[in-house]
Amino acid sequence: MRLITSLDDVHSLTLDLRRRGTTVSFVPTMGALHEGHLSLVRRAKSEGGALVVSIFVNPTQFGPSEDYSRYPRDLERDCEALARFEPDAIFAPGPADMYPDGFDTHIEPGNVAAKFEGALRPGHFRGVATVVVKLLNLVAPDVAYFGQKDFQQAAVLRRMIDDFNIGTRLMICPTVREHDGLALSSRNAYLSTEDRLAAPVLYRSLNRARELFHAGETRADVLAAAMRTILEAAPRAKVDYAAVVRPDTLEPAAQAAAGCVALVASRVGPARLIDNLILGPPGAPDEELIELAFEAPATSGGHTRP
Ligand code: AMP
Repeated sequence: MRLITSLDDVHSLTLDLRRRGTTVSFVPTMGALHEGHLSLVRRAKSEGGALVVSIFVNPTQFGPSEDYSRYPRDLERDCEALARFEPDAIFAPGPADMYPDGFDTHIEPGNVAAKFEGALRPGHFRGVATVVVKLLNLVAPDVAYFGQKDFQQAAVLRRMIDDFNIGTRLMICPTVREHDGLALSSRNAYLSTEDRLAAPVLYRSLNRARELFHAGETRADVLAAAMRTILEAAPRAKVDYAAVVRPDTLEPAAQAAAGCVALVASRVGPARLIDNLILGPPGAPDEELIELAFEAPATSGGHTRP
């Protein structure tokens, strides 16, 4: 396992691997690794080929009043957590390597990034898209793994990869949760004991929407209102949004159908939490729901390099 900080070194390593005919799997993260991240690493590892994991707290995706400076960082612990997966490289560049003086070009995602997280965190997806393009150019992986947990991020990246003919396949992996349904997140570290008790309300609200959908309710506004009612009843929760939308554009779905996604965001104490569930047939496994939401072609089918 090699810890690489230099952009040139990661580029030449993966170039060399590809020249030898090895496929490259890539898991980008911001570190503070938990079982959610490790589920992506496990999945990537299980595909065989080479494995690269990046750890980079990307400054450009944080707003000026957000938690960039206090975001949890522990490279040593992350390397220990990754060791058992024997990645070919852990790529952990510094901010000045990724954004040297004079850096002046950004990717501006379109409509899919305008709502929800994009509306509440101006510039967030511009930062995400920009760093992901840079990482994909440096690593040039065959497959890149992302979590369903950040559904809008996955939708924005999928659109971008298609629009820019980027020859990396996007693999979306199910959300890993605590025993009470709370989605694992590095930001859960900000929750007090009291907030932690309240936090599973996001998952409960999503499950209510799913139950109603299974019982035949397809009016998206009714499903959204049911989620909001549950969220608003929780102590210490301050709802940002609750909606049921189309998975590709995140436009409102008047009638919810299989593959549509229920999205919620709420503050719980000092932490801002997001979560989602994909609607589909009762009992469908997460992988099948992800396929429903993500596998249909995003466009007329742009050409991607082999
Ligand atoms: P982050 O370090 O927060 O940027 O996350 C890195 C990757 O891990 C992203 O693709 C996230 O969607 C994914 N991820 C974060 N939390 C979870 C989780 N609970 N389950 C599955 N994937 C996750």
